[in-house]
Amino acid sequence: MTKKEKTEINPDNRGFYGQYGGSYIPELLWANVEELRTRYSPIMSEKSYTDELDRLLRDYAGRPTPLYHAANLSRKTGAKIYLKREDLCHTGSHKLNNVLGQALLAVKMGKKQIIAETGAGQHGVATATVCALMNLPCTIFMGEKDTLRQKLNVTRMEMLGATVVPVSSGSKTLKDATNEAIRHWINNPDDTYYLIGSTIGPHPYPDIVTKLQSVISRETITQLREKEGRDEPDHVLACVGGGSNAAGAFFGFIGNGITRLTGAEAAGEGADSKKTAASINKGSMGIIHGSKTMLLQNKDGQVTETHSISAGLDYPGIGPLHAWLSKEGLAQYLPVSDEEAIEAAFDLTETEGIIPALESAHAVALLDKIDFKPGAVIVICLSGRGDKDMETYSNYFEGRSRGILPADNHQAT
Ligand SMILES: *Cc1c(COP(=O)(O)O)cnc(C)c1O
Repeated sequence: MTKKEKTEINPDNRGFYGQYGGSYIPELLWANVEELRTRYSPIMSEKSYTDELDRLLRDYAGRPTPLYHAANLSRKTGAKIYLKREDLCHTGSHKLNNVLGQALLAVKMGKKQIIAETGAGQHGVATATVCALMNLPCTIFMGEKDTLRQKLNVTRMEMLGATVVPVSSGSKTLKDATNEAIRHWINNPDDTYYLIGSTIGPHPYPDIVTKLQSVISRETITQLREKEGRDEPDHVLACVGGGSNAAGAFFGFIGNGITRLTGAEAAGEGADSKKTAASINKGSMGIIHGSKTMLLQNKDGQVTETHSISAGLDYPGIGPLHAWLSKEGLAQYLPVSDEEAIEAAFDLTETEGIIPALESAHAVALLDKIDFKPGAVIVICLSGRGDKDMETYSNYFEGRSRGILPADNHQAT
């Protein structure tokens, strides 16, 4: 392949990447979304905005995150593997990059309070963190069922000063929390900023979040130049829930003619099983949360229940940018099962002494699924750390040591 001129990827002015994206919202939300659409770009290119964001990313979040040459893992696989260490960001994942940027945008827009929804609680914790920092009142909507499953994160958010509103309608999970957050936004249009946690939702959210997460690939380019004397890796691997860490890790390399981009979708118990979250491989086009994209739905267009062992990937849709990259052949998306992700997490832990988030383990598992030349330079976006997943890992670990589960390459020490 030959190197092509870099062109930055932007949606059109109605928010479409090809046929995906747009803004499919109820009339009552139109004014709120339109205000954001007309104001985000000018504000985000103001010097006072970028200076303040750069300062916070550096001194508060801990950027740049290291690009770590994983020598042991490289030896094992025959590639030259680098881990982009988003797990070392404050609060334990890439999510803070986005929240810091949107909270600053909210302040510049004159908004006085922040609302957000959260499923497992990771986005809620990142949002509550930044609201504490910026002294902004913060309300987090969370399905009642999730508040019980994720008690520790509820405590974190409350300690950070956020109000957590348990939502008891519907299935009492993420989608019901989203409905409640939108209702709140409609009723408080003037002073409230709705802070979305991934590259999803109506335009301009997917573009805002992509641009804020693109710091990941921007840093990767500088770091690779230093370590390898080149700007482009041969491969970039990332996991895809809504698609924000992958969008950020891919952004600077899209269409460069050199780098192959691969996303890991959560296959759950298998892409062909009913318990899956592989929206590109198993989904079809439809509208979810204000955007036209690939999603898991039944023949009547009802969004289906999804499953993944990792809460952050357990989402029936995918950001429109990824639907488009897949359609255009600019990136590929491969399913990774629960079992494969867990095995990859144990492998990484044993070879490098890094316990990854279950989400990030899906990206590591791609090493067994992609074709690469010996010595190929592979960057894996390690989106988060595994602290939050220790219960899942420990259940599995006990199963393995009792011989109930396979322990192929696990050596007792
Ligand atoms: C939330 C989360 C994800 C999934 O979200 P994306 O928007 O797809 O990046 C992945 N990894 C970690 C550690 C997360 O917390």
